[in-house]
Amino acid sequence: MVRAYVALGANLGDAAVALRHAVQAINSLPWTRVLQSSSLYKTAPLDTDAGGAAAAPGDDYLNAVVEIETSLSAPDLLDQLQHIEQQAGRERPYRNAPRTLDLDLLLYGSGHIASARLTVPHPRMALRAFVLVPLAEIAPGLVNAAQLAVVAQQRIERLGRLAD
Ligand code: ATP
Ligand code: MG
Ligand code: MG
Repeated sequence: MVRAYVALGANLGDAAVALRHAVQAINSLPWTRVLQSSSLYKTAPLDTDAGGAAAAPGDDYLNAVVEIETSLSAPDLLDQLQHIEQQAGRERPYRNAPRTLDLDLLLYGSGHIASARLTVPHPRMALRAFVLVPLAEIAPGLVNAAQLAVVAQQRIERLGRLAD
């Protein structure tokens, strides 16, 4: 069994419903269960590709992070997460486009992976308050104050429990 962390995001359609359904779908994956879910957060759409945080198109996002325990391999887990995205109607018209559901694998145990379709730890997680703040909520030992300080200018608002 491996402990892994998945970031959830959506800013098209009913994003709260999409995130709640996604947590249930992840918990229903073979050899996998959700151990912890962060609160639900509202964040401004950002393009964090360039190292900074420029504005990106679209409405505000809802974000959360879940901790899971799984016996799936990392590539198999990515397949399953992408299947859940497809079920939620995910389309990719262009990079950083608004989306019904994004599921990114942040951490997979202590694993370091650099394959054509999977990079773990997620290469942009340290640039993103919408990842670090919910991750710190459920796994405070994985995020330190200096890392949070780097993203402190990014707007993020805790809305409440994810599963109400
Ligand atoms: P970002 O990765 O910057 O958050 P995004 O989530 O919008 O961008 P997607 O369109 O969801 O990007 O995914 C593009 C590709 O990223 C996927 O096809 C997948 O193969 C690849 N990928 C690489 N590493 C990961 C990872 N750790 N988690 C999810 N997808 C990954
Ligand atoms: Mg993403
Ligand atoms: Mg993604």
